[in-house]
Formats: sequence, structure tokens, C-alpha cells
Amino acid sequence: MSYKTVNPYTGETLKTFPDATDAEVAGAIDKAHNAFLSWKEKPIAERLALLQRVADGLRKEKKEIAKLLTIEMGKLYSEAQGEVELSAQIFEYYVKNAEELLKPEKLPVADPAEGQAILVCDPLGVLLAIEPWNFPYYQIARILAPQLAVGNTLLLKHASNVPQSAAAFERVVLEAGLPEGLLQNLYATRTQVETIINDPRVHGVALTGSEGAGSVIASQAGKALKKCTMELGGADAFVVLADAPLKETVRWAVFGRHWNGGQVCVSSKRMIIDAKIYDDFLSQYQEGVAALKAGDPFDETTTLAPLSSQQAADEVKDKVRQAVAHGATAIEVGPKVPSQGAFVQPTILTNVTPDNPAYYWEFFGPVSMLFKAKDEDDAVRIANDTPFGLGGSVFTARPEHGAEVAKRISTGMIFVNHPTMVKADLPFGGVRRSGFGRELIDLGLKEFANHKLIDIV
Ligand code: NAP
Repeated sequence: MSYKTVNPYTGETLKTFPDATDAEVAGAIDKAHNAFLSWKEKPIAERLALLQRVADGLRKEKKEIAKLLTIEMGKLYSEAQGEVELSAQIFEYYVKNAEELLKPEKLPVADPAEGQAILVCDPLGVLLAIEPWNFPYYQIARILAPQLAVGNTLLLKHASNVPQSAAAFERVVLEAGLPEGLLQNLYATRTQVETIINDPRVHGVALTGSEGAGSVIASQAGKALKKCTMELGGADAFVVLADAPLKETVRWAVFGRHWNGGQVCVSSKRMIIDAKIYDDFLSQYQEGVAALKAGDPFDETTTLAPLSSQQAADEVKDKVRQAVAHGATAIEVGPKVPSQGAFVQPTILTNVTPDNPAYYWEFFGPVSMLFKAKDEDDAVRIANDTPFGLGGSVFTARPEHGAEVAKRISTGMIFVNHPTMVKADLPFGGVRRSGFGRELIDLGLKEFANHKLIDIV
């Protein structure tokens, strides 16, 4: 039984769940397909009214369901409540905007006397979502809200360490009054995942997770000729230009690297600092990180969460050891983290050279790589010297100039004077090893749609 709740702060195994049976998986596909046949016929206004009820249900239960995130993957309870609110906002974004965004589009034609061409967005059918544990509710909301709005239905294979969070979201959706079969949580095995992808009634798969999982699932989807989107890892650059206001920039750097225990695909993992202010940045950053307080994620005074599991913590520590073995310098920062819980000592890595394999890695925990840039061009060069292309940020006293620098950095998202942000009204996704496809706004709404031409002659 791989689906289980193990509290990463106490180490206790709280609950285990049996894998789905093959019959359950087959039944779920039937149900999702039948639900699709009637859901797609519902007027969009009715679909959206039901989505508003999901947003309301999430908010009503915020305090209660947020606890599950803290228990299952160690998220600070305050951040867990913020995640429930963000998930509700995503549903509301589509309630407010989906009808307009899905309006048929009249295409400009060379000769109007020859008739008109109209593009409509039809849903595809049943989709499979494979999601990671780091934002258990937000990841569901990010795919579910747009797909239900357009008329698709969803099977969910969530990460094996957040089974109660996955079940709680499914319950909220059902209790909001949505028809059965629109969202079904399955404790599916990997073999069953492949079976689902191969079923002719399943028309696409959205995966958020590691490069390894992305490569396996994209291959399976490719073999079955199914559309897929891949939201994968990242090693976001946090570029600090020489004129950046240091105090404010350091505050964002500490936050950008350490929120959610440092386990965010868009965490500020590589800090690239102009040589003129590097030493000042390093000393102020060390002070900021040292002020973090590791401890019980339910305690309001805790600011550094444990990692999602002891295994995750061990992997990060091992990667730090390997980075040092290849020549990096590791500075352990702040008071010793508690011995209870899956904590990793906040660590700053310097002297990470391109011949060190760690130079190209993603550290999924409180480990910051610091690079000294000779000047702005050198900072841009280092920012782009990565296999990833997810998010990034540029800090400067001249925001308009920051936007010019941002244009030279090759990622799916880049922010000036803020670490990469997640918001209901901004798109999300990356390029290169960070994946392909976009989630949220109209881009996410139309990823799994048939853009159908109706040509009237
Ligand atoms: P992971 O191991 O790839 O797991 C993600 C999901 O994929 C889980 O549900 C996992 O199930 C499933 N999975 C993994 N291998 C599979 C396979 N061969 N067949 C079917 N399902 C499979 O990811 P992680 O390491 O836990 O999560 C962290 C990674 O996700 C980081 O690289 C992070 O940057 C990335 N991430 C990206 C985004 C984004 O939007 N771009 C957002 C968040 C996280 P099990 O749990 O059962 O293994």
C-alpha cells in the first residue's frame, strides 16, 4: 500500500489506504465518461454556478481542510489556509471569466463575400491529472476549475503521501452539489495510470511533478496519441542588479527560497548577484535566513516548515554532500534545526562552478545557490545557463529597466521586484526541461479543448 499519511513533523504513520482495484479504475472511467456526456450539454452558466459553490465550500471549510495539508506534508498551517483561499480564487476566476473567454471567435477572412469562419471551443472528454504533494489543493484547483468550466471531466491520481487531502477535495466538490463523476480521486498504481491513459475515452493527461515522471507520462501519452501538458521542475534565477534596494530584496530572497519549506517548483533557487553588492547581500541574506524559526508547522511562530518526508530531507542532504564533494562551499545557517521532524539545516552553497553537477540541479528544500555576476550581462548569462525554464525574477531600483532585463531571461514567467508568484489570474508554465503547456487563465482553459472550425459558405 503506497498511499499513506505520514506526518513529517512527528514521523508517525497515521493512515494507510489500499491501492485501487482494477475494477474500481474501470468503473471510474465509465462514470467519468457518462458524467462528461451530460456535463458538456449543460449551459455554461449552470456549470459556472456550480463552480462557485466549490469556491464557497472550500472557504467554508478552510480551517478544517487546511489542517490536512499540515499533517500530511508539513506545510505551515498559515500557508495551508492561504492555499485553500488561492484554490477558491481559481474557481472564482473561471466563474467570472470562462463564459467570455469561451465565446465563439469570428475569424478574419480574406473575402467576407465567401462566408464566415467561426472558431468554437468544444470539450474533449475525460482527462487524467497526475499531481504532486507540494500544493495538494492548489494543484487540483489549477487543473480542475478550467477543465470543468470548458466541459471536461477529471480522474485524479494524486501523490501517494497526500491521500487524505485528495479525498477531502473530492468530498468538497461532491458536497458542493456537483454531479458525481466530474472529479474522481483514485489511489491508482502506475500500471493503472497507463491503463487509464490508453483508454479510448480518456483524451488527455496533465502532469505536474518531476522531470522523471514527466518523461514517463509524456512517453505513454505520446504512444497513445493523447494530448498532454507537463509542469515540471525549475531552478529559478533571482537576479539582483547593482542598484537593487538591498533590504527589501533580501527580504524577498529569504521568502522566495524558504516558503513552503523551500519545496516550490518556482522557489528562488539560484541567487545571481552583481559583484558590486555581493558581499553585502550575502551577509544580510545570512542574517535573514538565520532568523527563520524551524518547528511545529501548526505553531504560528514557526517560519520554516519540515520537508514533506524524511526521505525528501535525506535526498536534499545527500545532494548538498555531492555538491560539496565536487568543490562547492556549504555554509550552514542559523540555529540547529530540531532533531524531531524532516528538517534540513538552511544551507547556502557558494563556489558552485559549471563543472559541478549541482550547478544544473534543482534543490527541493532550504538550500540556496549564490552566484557572483561580473555585471548585468553576466547575470543574464548565468540566469540562462540552466536546463530549466520555469520562473525567475529581477530586482532593481529601475522597474522599467528590470523589465528589459527580464525579456532577456528565457523562462515561462518572470517577475520584476518579486519572486515568482502564483495567482489565480496569471498563467503558469515553463519551457525546456520545465515542461510544456500552460495552466490557468484562458491558456489553461483551452489546453484540452477542440478548437473547432465552423465555416459557413
Ligand atoms: P514526482 O515524484 O514526479 O511525483 C509527482 C506525481 O507523479 C505524483 O502523483 C507521483 O505519484 C506521480 N508519478 C511519479 N512517477 C510516476 C510514474 N512513473 N507513473 C505514474 N505516476 C508517477 O514529483 P515530486 O518529486 O514528488 O515533486 C516535486 C517535483 O515537482 C519538483 O521537481 C518540482 O519542481 C515539480 N513541480 C512542478 C510544478 C510546476 O507547476 N511546474 C509544481 C509543483 C512541483 P507517487 O506519489 O505515487 O509517486
